[in-house]
Amino acid sequence: MKNIPFIRPIYALLTLLLLSSSFSWAKNAPKLPYRIKTIVIDAGHGGKDGSTHGLTSKEKDVALMTALRLGKLIEEQLKDIKVVYTRTTDVFVPLYERIGLANRVKADLFISIHCNSMPIYTKRVVSGYRRNSRGKKVPTYTTTTSQSTGTRGVETFVSGFGRMDEQDIALRENASILLETDYKDNYEGYDPNDPESIIMFSFLKNSFREQSIKLAAFMQDEYVKTGRIDRGVKEKSLAVLARAGMPAVLTEIGFISNPEEEAYMNSEDGQKEIADCLFKAILTYKKQLETE
Ligand SMILES: [Zn+2]
Repeated sequence: MKNIPFIRPIYALLTLLLLSSSFSWAKNAPKLPYRIKTIVIDAGHGGKDGSTHGLTSKEKDVALMTALRLGKLIEEQLKDIKVVYTRTTDVFVPLYERIGLANRVKADLFISIHCNSMPIYTKRVVSGYRRNSRGKKVPTYTTTTSQSTGTRGVETFVSGFGRMDEQDIALRENASILLETDYKDNYEGYDPNDPESIIMFSFLKNSFREQSIKLAAFMQDEYVKTGRIDRGVKEKSLAVLARAGMPAVLTEIGFISNPEEEAYMNSEDGQKEIADCLFKAILTYKKQLETE
């Protein structure tokens, strides 16, 4: 047919129109419902980094126990969610590697599990006297340590602007970095002993802050339901959370420096209760996010 050459441009135009309209349709189309697919569970510390300890247990072991228990609950009851652990044994994992793993597997959630502890104060006291080489009486000293064991409760942190009076926790949790030989490269000069570095870290933007706060609040709600003391949701400049490309929380499941809470965290009932709290909080979070 002779008029084909004239029809062709019309076809081309039509195709173009169809394509562009389908593009704009795609842009305005309702998004596929969001689904949580991968959760990274991070047992704090590990290996040479035992962090805090109580009378009978170390933070790294309590954290691992709880992390594995929570992971198992998710694996058993939410079969469409993949659980990735930063560690499943007593090994040292650098902080940047923990969040690096979460970013690599494109995790939808990062949950770091830790135990709290009151600081230990050391004091030099005179324990007696002795004679030195010239026969002169000089005092002898011993070092005593003291720690408040009464403090108890649960708190959950999200990455953000830490208040200055809460920097002790940031210092302790970030101190693991010092055990990494090349921490200066991995954290761009970050020095956990330098308050300025901590402040710099706190200014790193966390776009998932809002979701992190929601999850943290759900966790605290569940803890409170089981009679735990609520120390609240707090924002803190924590290295392990700072580079999270997803909502991320660090939950302190109890004070290992409090003998009663230490026993609870190490008991079968306590472990079950804590893991249930975290699991229920994830369920609530999942529900509100996936139906939004
Ligand atoms: Zn810790």
